Amino acid sequence: MKNKALKRLIYGLLIIVGSLPSFSFASGNSLQTDTVTGTGYKIKTIIVDPGHGGRPSGTTGTYSHGASGSFSTERSVTLALAFKLQAELEKQLSTVKVVLTRTTEDDVSLQRRAEIANENKGDLFISLHCNSLPNRGVREVVGHKHHKAIYKTIEVADHSGRGVLILVYGFHRTKEEENAIKQNLIEGGDSSEFDTNPDPNDPASMILMNEYKRKYRKQSIHLAELLVTEFGADGRKIEGIREQGVHVLCHSAMPAVLVETGYIDNADDEAYLNSEQGQNEIVASIVRAVQSYKNEVEGVTVTQPQ
Ligand SMILES: [Zn+2]
Repeated sequence: MKNKALKRLIYGLLIIVGSLPSFSFASGNSLQTDTVTGTGYKIKTIIVDPGHGGRPSGTTGTYSHGASGSFSTERSVTLALAFKLQAELEKQLSTVKVVLTRTTEDDVSLQRRAEIANENKGDLFISLHCNSLPNRGVREVVGHKHHKAIYKTIEVADHSGRGVLILVYGFHRTKEEENAIKQNLIEGGDSSEFDTNPDPNDPASMILMNEYKRKYRKQSIHLAELLVTEFGADGRKIEGIREQGVHVLCHSAMPAVLVETGYIDNADDEAYLNSEQGQNEIVASIVRAVQSYKNEVEGVTVTQPQ
């Protein structure tokens, strides 16, 4: 990270942390317990992020095409869901503006997606994806030699995944990440992968970053919980909430969740994800969760930052 960028980041964080609503989601219903009269925070802008995308024509390079099913692709399903979600959120939550990070089949870089979110001063970031399972290794007898079976491991497709999984950003850095950050600092490079991490040797910037992440993390997890409740109410199989180091989640300066809306490599889920009814139900679940979240955030009053 370059120094100027770091200073800008810290300055930006001070403003963000200072104006954040602060409340505890530790036990779901204890919202009121550690809050006092506050600032009238309103959710005005929601960023909807359709995952992946195809390679723009006339360009080269690698693109995160996403998962595929037997007749559909993740990038098309997430784009269709994003348009529906945008329309429905703006209809149901009439004061809210919804900004999409991708509006065509062409891929948008993860960095650009986070920039779009931050430039539009999003209050909430919802990334839409479809899940799939990697191939499974199976040991198979391929012959015999001296009365002993000869085995070979073959890869077979695993279509057993089903249901909804919600990801929130987990910021426990691995040793590799720490090393990469340090290496980057030593070499004075500017790796975009780590460009929002503060100098790990500067206690002041680390405290600030941790405080900032702690606040968004709580809100992100709470939104994830509301999503789980709403998807569950629609009878979807729920895989739960998982913390993961997702680039686009941690680079957006707002509470952020990633919704794995279903397994595109599972026949039932793929049919559901592509059906009008399935898409409408998914969108309705998300809208209900966002509505609850918005009511809570705007209803609760806020503590002044310490
Ligand atoms: Zn994906």
